[in-house]
Amino acid sequence: MIETHAHIYDEQFEPDRTQMLERALATGIKQIWMPNCNHETIDGMLALEQQYPGLCVPMMGVHPCYIKEDYEQELNITEQWLARRKFAMIGEIGIDFYWDLSFVPQQEEAFIAQLRLAQKYSLPICIHSRNSKNGDLNAIVRCIELIEQFGWSDLRGIFHCFSGNLEEARRVVSLNFLLGIGGVATFKNGGIDKVLPHIGLEHLVLETDSPYLAPVPHRGKRNEVAYLALVAQRIAELKQLSYNEVVHQTTANAMNLIERIKPEP
Ligand SMILES: [Zn+2]
Repeated sequence: MIETHAHIYDEQFEPDRTQMLERALATGIKQIWMPNCNHETIDGMLALEQQYPGLCVPMMGVHPCYIKEDYEQELNITEQWLARRKFAMIGEIGIDFYWDLSFVPQQEEAFIAQLRLAQKYSLPICIHSRNSKNGDLNAIVRCIELIEQFGWSDLRGIFHCFSGNLEEARRVVSLNFLLGIGGVATFKNGGIDKVLPHIGLEHLVLETDSPYLAPVPHRGKRNEVAYLALVAQRIAELKQLSYNEVVHQTTANAMNLIERIKPEP
């Protein structure tokens, strides 16, 4: 299995990170993709890559919740890292209408700037899209619009922690993007149970978003990579497929996404 989104560098794993990773390996995890947040998370993320080469795979980018007054400096740091070495993806990037609306124009500007970086370095993107609390502002639709306006048809990526409706899922699929499915799929009123039966397995990848959004029966507690199996199990139930089919196809989907990247000449 490939875990496509986990913040395993988070301080919540400080006490037992080695054991946490051993539990993940024991469930058949082959790779853990690590989304970056801002300049403060880079060192911890790259230290894990060095400690577990081939297992812990870093992304590079600025998370929309970390777009503040100093966002241009954050973007510069991201750009410098991308120029210096290879990353699997640009991420996580996108729009967050949930926590703070005061930097929305900057969030959009940063998202577009990072789409440009994706094009420049031929990298897929990992999208964070969270709607406003009352649901009036739809971040999934806004990200789709910005991607369409950007107009690079080879752009690929994942709508991480997808929690939209069926129409939004179909728009994501028609953009040739994947839906990142995590613990929300196990929640009683998560809504994804109504979407997944109608979306082909070839459009899905697995994620936990650890340490957040733990699946049932761990809901509300710290999430960890080993719980990815619970997500795969839930998708198998919803789509009436075998667990192995879900694991096999979602792994292939994830590998295809990052193997599109051509090695630099
Ligand atoms: Zn994340």
